[in-house]
Amino acid sequence: MIANYSWLAEPFAKIRRDAESERLAHALLVTGGLGSGTAEFCREIAAYRLCQSPGENACGNCKACQLFDAGSHPDLRLLEPEGAAKSIRVDQIRSLTGFIAQTPQIGNWKLVIIEMADRMNQNAANALLKMLEEPSGNCLILLATERPQLLLPTVRSRCSKLRIKAPSVSQSVNYLVEQGMSQEQAEQLVSQVGARPIQIQEWLQQDILPQWQTSMKKLQALDTGQTSPIAVASELASMDFSLLISWAMQFVAGRSRLLAFKDRERSRAYLELFERLKDCRRELDAGTNPNPQLALESLFVQWQSVVHN
Ligand SMILES: [Zn+2]
Repeated sequence: MIANYSWLAEPFAKIRRDAESERLAHALLVTGGLGSGTAEFCREIAAYRLCQSPGENACGNCKACQLFDAGSHPDLRLLEPEGAAKSIRVDQIRSLTGFIAQTPQIGNWKLVIIEMADRMNQNAANALLKMLEEPSGNCLILLATERPQLLLPTVRSRCSKLRIKAPSVSQSVNYLVEQGMSQEQAEQLVSQVGARPIQIQEWLQQDILPQWQTSMKKLQALDTGQTSPIAVASELASMDFSLLISWAMQFVAGRSRLLAFKDRERSRAYLELFERLKDCRRELDAGTNPNPQLALESLFVQWQSVVHN
């Protein structure tokens, strides 16, 4: 599995060394840029830890690996965002309580993977915090997120951390070509979207790429003052609101970083805008249903004042 993701080989070797010398923490937070494969990495660790005869990776043949591949290993729990709000709710976290207390049914370990851990709402994060404070000896909790800044700081500080370095341009292109894309298309998409091959693949499968391209063009026009906030808001109001907010956050964070040494005041203004987008994202995660057009108008008016100041 992991052979497909060449940029994960090095961090995985570190995990293997830690596991072999029994230095693996009871809770590991795996972070990385968008599309860097944090979730894939956590699944690989889980498979490796559960495997009954692991070599460099999980063997893929033993009973544990077969159960893992079938998604029915009794010593593994996988949590992902659910429901319309795409959040991880407190009852999902609480459902782990019994699992964590019991002894492993097959091997020596139990594994919990929480994918997109930044999507835990406040109550869920607090419930998890309690579990992290009272670790169970034979349970490893893996948290994957591409947005660690959205996690509760207390949750972050309870975990050992591993940051995955983004793949290079050539690793990204090679990955997409191995998945069956033409060299030309792979190169073009990586130059447009960036070195985020897993995300590119997902967007293609879900037909999100055209939405991304349109959104970026409109946000760019707003950011250069070529168009009015109201016009952009009405043009983008029909997009997937949650995705759009994520893209706007990336865009704004990039601008803030770029200006950090050149124009501190504007850099800070972008950061404030980022915080507002983050609040908006939190409200969405908490299940509120704002009117996209109105919410975007208000955000974009602030955006425009950042551009013009
Ligand atoms: Zn195995």
